[in-house]
Amino acid sequence: LTGSNEHMSNAEKEFERALRPLSFNDFTGQEKVLENLKIFVIAASQRNEPLDHVLLHGPPGLGKTTLSHIIANELGSNIKVTSGPVLDKPSDLAGLLTNLEEHDVLFIDEIHRLNPIVEEYLYSAMEDFKIDIMIDSGPNARTVQIGLNPFTLIGATTRSGLLTAPLRARFGINSRLEYYDAKLLSTIIERSSKILGTPIHADAAFEIARRSRGTPRIANNLLRRTRDFAQVKGDGTIKLDIAEVALNALDVDKNGLDEMDNRILNTIIGKFNGGPVGLSTIATACSEEAETIEEVYEPFLIKEGYIKRTSRGREATPTAYDHLKIKPPTQQGS
Ligand code: ADP
Repeated sequence: LTGSNEHMSNAEKEFERALRPLSFNDFTGQEKVLENLKIFVIAASQRNEPLDHVLLHGPPGLGKTTLSHIIANELGSNIKVTSGPVLDKPSDLAGLLTNLEEHDVLFIDEIHRLNPIVEEYLYSAMEDFKIDIMIDSGPNARTVQIGLNPFTLIGATTRSGLLTAPLRARFGINSRLEYYDAKLLSTIIERSSKILGTPIHADAAFEIARRSRGTPRIANNLLRRTRDFAQVKGDGTIKLDIAEVALNALDVDKNGLDEMDNRILNTIIGKFNGGPVGLSTIATACSEEAETIEEVYEPFLIKEGYIKRTSRGREATPTAYDHLKIKPPTQQGS
């Protein structure tokens, strides 16, 4: 339930696909981002030019992949999907690029994890729609330049800070997706329920929304599990009491923090006196990768005011002590 899509089963991916909005009008929230994108898409279409390259950043599960598909749909173009870690060699990239048709969209997820050599090839592809490829080897080795159909690259990243400056500079459009508030997530949950054919009460939808860490992917996952509870323990309709039973069974607490969120807070407070403590130390103590904590858990905990980032590491706030029902230590001096 982390909101990360790295360890999803095929059934989960299929479930996500079924719930994915297909047009700008279907997409809830991120109003400002959407408003701009709509204008850029219309303008590019009117000029019969490819849309400028787009960088989408923000925590996992907020709709970066979904938006990329929507952009391609709205452009009336095809989309090819790949990801940074998958593009191992320049030839992998060249294969994709040379197969793009005019104004197609190439979506690269986790673009911050591109191999630097592959990344260099991307520069001229993005800028001039050309790539140099090496043919032959040894004394016969030479490069030939291949022209590409004008295309749009959409890069998605959870860590825009890790993008190199030259890559970042090649994106004309740069949009940051934000966490969703409970009202928006409620709308998304009600829309998903309708698609699934599962009746849901408004207060139940809101309760699930409130406890979804601001993330549509988590909201949809919790809806899916809650639906099971409603089917087996109730009459199929998702009501507030069933939703509460399900959410508690899934270890989502009253404030919407999941088990790992709580483990992180417990670690900082219980083992390190509330911090400051370094990220890698927290990671080791929680048996989780530092990168995952930084990308998935920390942004939400910071946004909700449970921890703060200082120059000396992460610190628990009074809100975190309050949440864990632990008395904060009395301030001494500074
Ligand atoms: P990301 O690429 O940012 O990790 P996805 O685009 O894969 O996130 O979205 C995860 C799930 O959440 C998908 O099933 C998608 O349908 C749903 N979702 C994301 N954003 C929205 C939204 N604004 N409205 C409705 N559903 C959304």
